[in-house]
Amino acid sequence: MKKLQRIIKTRAQIISESILKVDSFLNHQIDYDLMEAIGEEFFHYFKEKNVDRVLTIEASGIAIGMATAKFFQKPFVFAKKKKPNTMSGEVLSTKVVSFTKNIAYDISLSSEFINFGENILIVDDFLARGNAALGLCKLVEKAGANVAGIGIVIEKSFQPGREMLLAKGYDICSLARIKSLKNNKISFY
Ligand code: 5GP
Repeated sequence: MKKLQRIIKTRAQIISESILKVDSFLNHQIDYDLMEAIGEEFFHYFKEKNVDRVLTIEASGIAIGMATAKFFQKPFVFAKKKKPNTMSGEVLSTKVVSFTKNIAYDISLSSEFINFGENILIVDDFLARGNAALGLCKLVEKAGANVAGIGIVIEKSFQPGREMLLAKGYDICSLARIKSLKNNKISFY
């Protein structure tokens, strides 16, 4: 997605050879025109997959998930990183190791918002080692639903997430694939 690559080139900050900061358009301040364009791209890629629902993880996935669900005209739900006291009934949860914080935490989703047999499109901001996306896949499968695919805004292809998820048979659409962040330079595929 050329528009996304252009925005990454001009507005992202390289924090290290493995971490990119995108607070000015995706992780803190949000560019809603870009969100709409992202939602439309995911819709074009996954439109034959009979998507019933879009799923992400709080917080950075929310704007992406909403924009995407609007194109599909399907419900949107996000997994929570802390289970609130108000979450009652059957709760699906699994452990995820955070890439940026290097700690394990539980993600939770009320079974009320995901139904047996549904086709669920998972979306997220980054793909690094693949733990966040895999955790979401596990929640979907615990509910007896199917992973229709995984839509990623920024894939760091030099990290192992894509290969791990492909090996498990998931269909991945990454809108920007970063080959390297070395020498203070962002190179795309
Ligand atoms: P993974 O679980 O694939 O290792 O990492 C994906 C998650 O970690 C994403 O949900 C994202 O929030 C965070 N993440 C991974 N790499 C980066 C990065 O380079 N920059 C930022 N801002 N977040 C990242």
